[in-house]
Amino acid sequence: MSSPSFPTDPVALAQDLIRCQSVTPADDGAQALLASVLEKMGFEVTHLPFGPEDAPTPNFYARIGTGSPSLCFAGHTDVVPPGEGWAHDPFSAEIHDGRLYGRGIADMKGGVACSVAAIARFLESRPLKGTISLLITGDEEGPAHFGTKPVIEWLAAHGEVPDFCLLGEPTNPAALGDTIKIGRRGSMNAEITVRGVQGHVAYPHLADNPIHRLLAALTELTGRCLDEGTEWFSPSSLQVTSVDVGNPATNVIPADARARLNIRFNDSHTGAGLADWIRDVVSRHAPDSDVKIAISGEAFLTQPGPAVNCLEQAVQDVTGRRPKLDTGGGTSDARFISQHCAVAEFGLVGATMHKRDEHVDVSTLEDLTRIYLTFMERFGL
Ligand SMILES: [Zn+2]
Repeated sequence: MSSPSFPTDPVALAQDLIRCQSVTPADDGAQALLASVLEKMGFEVTHLPFGPEDAPTPNFYARIGTGSPSLCFAGHTDVVPPGEGWAHDPFSAEIHDGRLYGRGIADMKGGVACSVAAIARFLESRPLKGTISLLITGDEEGPAHFGTKPVIEWLAAHGEVPDFCLLGEPTNPAALGDTIKIGRRGSMNAEITVRGVQGHVAYPHLADNPIHRLLAALTELTGRCLDEGTEWFSPSSLQVTSVDVGNPATNVIPADARARLNIRFNDSHTGAGLADWIRDVVSRHAPDSDVKIAISGEAFLTQPGPAVNCLEQAVQDVTGRRPKLDTGGGTSDARFISQHCAVAEFGLVGATMHKRDEHVDVSTLEDLTRIYLTFMERFGL
């Protein structure tokens, strides 16, 4: 018999969350709604706002139980703007033909709702051994400076780091059961400015052409094979994204030249190591130059072990399919969590995430709830 205060239905909870218009950085009551649901289930909720005092990022940590095993479900309640042209209102959470429509249903309010519903079913049906927690941020789709990163650091400072963290991002490209992510590539951007000496093209000995120096540096950078890939990662890739001079004259050697590049790198590199390499190459070809580096995330890998195995098995139990273990795609907040504990990602189907008419099949919400519940059982809670 279901207790009325226990939200065992992921569909109703997902609909309530969609109706909060929490377009980054707004929250519109999404976290208060979740926090009150969790408090009724017996969770102790700690609100952890970080960032500017006049507009802090809402985050919270909710915990029930103590000791090991300790499992944390991580997620975000913010969504990207809906954009124009929806056939179904992006914040009404309508169901048509077995599909639930709404901004954030795939990415990732649906995943959050399934984790809460799975926990509710778990707590109703047996005593808890160990700890279950949730780490929820309101800034994943924005700059992410004041979200999961300071929250996981707060957990570390307070001795609350879980044994394992499951992030419910929509990892499945086409069907539930496709893919578990066990790592992500790192990403960095470099902006290179080379200064030369401006002059007349007919008198090159009186000038110093910064374009030639920049091209030589870019040729060396793009000519290196960074690696051949590793066991779980594809080869790292450097892509020049822009070369800018903006010189309107045909008879002037310009004073400076700029380029930008991005590297998606695997676990055989660090952002700092690649930054040193870029600076060294550029300075050899162009002593008078600047290199600005921004590392958005390091590569990380959770080596498949017992916890990932429990998750694979849970997916297979419910869907009948063996998920692929994968490290592709962009970055996620798992890059922050991985600095402190093992993390894997599994959620809904992401085919429509960030798109117009974002939706999931209603049946996948029930299936994902059952996968999370089975995972908790196999994890030994
Ligand atoms: Zn997301």
